Amino acid sequence: MDLTAFHRWSIDDPESFWAEQAALIDWHQPFTRVLDHRHPPFARWFIDGQTNLCHNAIDRHLATQPDQPALIFVSTETGEERTYSFAQLHREVQRMAAIMLTLGVGRGDRVLIYLPMIPEAVFAMFACARIGAIHSVVFGGFASHSLATRIDDAEPVLVVSADAGSRGGKVVPYKPLLDEAIALAAHKPAAVLMVDRGLAAFDRVAGRDHGYAALRETHREAQVPVTWLESNEISYTLYTSGTTGKPKGVQRDVGGYAVALAASMKHIFCGKPGETYFCSSDIGWVVGHSYIVYGPLIAGMATILYEGTPVRPDAGILWKLVEQHRVSVMFSAPTAIRVLKKQDPAYLTRHDTSSLRALFLAGEPLDEPTARWIADGLGRPIIDNYWQTETGWPILTVAHGIDKTPTRFGSPGMPMYGFDVQLLHEQTGEAVGNNEKGVVAIAAPLPPGCLQTVWRDDERFVKTYFSSIPGRQVYSTFDWGIRDDDGYYFILGRTDDVINVAGHRLGTREIEESLSSHAAVAECAVVGVADSLKGQVAMAFVVLRDASAVDLPAERLRLEGELMATVDRRLGAVARPSRVHFVTVLPKTRSGKVLRRSIQALCEGRDPGDLTTIEDPAALDQVRAAVSPPPAAPRS
Ligand code: AMP
Repeated sequence: MDLTAFHRWSIDDPESFWAEQAALIDWHQPFTRVLDHRHPPFARWFIDGQTNLCHNAIDRHLATQPDQPALIFVSTETGEERTYSFAQLHREVQRMAAIMLTLGVGRGDRVLIYLPMIPEAVFAMFACARIGAIHSVVFGGFASHSLATRIDDAEPVLVVSADAGSRGGKVVPYKPLLDEAIALAAHKPAAVLMVDRGLAAFDRVAGRDHGYAALRETHREAQVPVTWLESNEISYTLYTSGTTGKPKGVQRDVGGYAVALAASMKHIFCGKPGETYFCSSDIGWVVGHSYIVYGPLIAGMATILYEGTPVRPDAGILWKLVEQHRVSVMFSAPTAIRVLKKQDPAYLTRHDTSSLRALFLAGEPLDEPTARWIADGLGRPIIDNYWQTETGWPILTVAHGIDKTPTRFGSPGMPMYGFDVQLLHEQTGEAVGNNEKGVVAIAAPLPPGCLQTVWRDDERFVKTYFSSIPGRQVYSTFDWGIRDDDGYYFILGRTDDVINVAGHRLGTREIEESLSSHAAVAECAVVGVADSLKGQVAMAFVVLRDASAVDLPAERLRLEGELMATVDRRLGAVARPSRVHFVTVLPKTRSGKVLRRSIQALCEGRDPGDLTTIEDPAALDQVRAAVSPPPAAPRS
């Protein structure tokens, strides 16, 4: 069967299609129904089936490959390297699970994980999965305000954190940010479990904070049986940005997610038990959840957990890891490749990467020159894939486990089985033709593995995702796309106020809110501007309460730095605008809406578009002046 037929089967008869995929995982109790779509757009998969993610990723491999590597931890930041076999990982996860149980975590309780890329993060995720607790991992690059918002929404019983992470050789303390976040949050977690890496001293709150090392010792022989969960119970929530300032808790099930990942490992990534998978993302993002932690281990592969950058100790480190561990499947982000592109290309061939069957790239658009550069340099197949936190696995790509559909530079590929992808007109909701731009939408039901709802907010789930295209109850990805005559899709950027900086998804509204918290700011607008390295960067335009505060260049610089530091402190350095420009008025429509798209167009040197509704055309001149390079100085 080719990909088209495979896809057709999944859409025409999802029940038989997914029943077959479900055989890829272990079920403690079989499901009685494959799909319950009686209350669209909500879809429930594998009704009454009982399973467990931890069992499928770890326990079930113990019989056949207990001593095979499961988790390979490499930190080029601290010089640590540790490999855990499936049996050892099983032991560590049980110890972590026992600790969680003693700290009062029960089935359905939330555990917030705020950790760098260390094995304990993986133990903690699996421990939650094992006992039926819901994990919510927060990216280590987020700061106290982001963390507080997530603590208040998830209401965790326990937070698992560490003294510090390290990036580019610089220690990044976590604990002060966590303490500040808990102080800011209305919800107070009962317990904090601290992994002390010995990187940074930290304060302990008596009665609340517990040391991981000591508790691990008391649970040497811990045996914590798997809690069998109904397929539709919640495995985790993961927060992601949207149009509004408040991040959404993307909520995922157990059975559907396990099946979706197992199927993707077989059909898309083509990974086999005993092989090694290397995904250089972070556990704080969905790619890390699906393809550092759960997917490879469900498939019986070893997974590499890498703490470090792509350029330290040198720009060959990723390929060195491929060589050392005979990696067969690799997953990274276009930004990482663009960073490498600035380095000596000789690094690409210094190591033996012949074990690599394919390098998958996702998270942001993969521009053609970057794709060609890495494909030529490495001499291995490059496979772009397009998806979102919400979907959990690829919407568009090629599936070389099914057929050998060739990849096409600039395109992430074709709709994957399970995804009834449609390109729709933004205003009319009508399907657009080939080579016409439309919103990338997916007809309900979303396949297994996708979000069930927004955590504690079904209404927001329906309103946000299924009500944005007129007259159609279809899921909107909020991406523009186009399909060519051969069925290849191309992604053309977001339809909403989400920007993508180095593969990190950020809401411009969150950054605006953060800037506005500074006393000097009256109002502001943040837009995403094309950048050759990071894909996009955030650029801020700020109206001050007192414009004279930046009369002098030195004052301007100081305030710009202060505003950037405000964003660093509240959201994290990932969200810091690359520039803060001061203007006295923002371009708005007569009804008061900020013309963000026009600002963005000017920043990118494009035409600002239809300006018939603009209140004050001079406002755009200020933006233009702010972003245009100063005139060259006269020669003499
Ligand atoms: P996230 O939820 O953080 O994974 O971000 C998802 C968004 O990243 C998508 O909605 C797209 O805008 C963008 N994205 C992810 N993968 C790709 C890709 N392969 N090509 C183009 N854009 C992508």
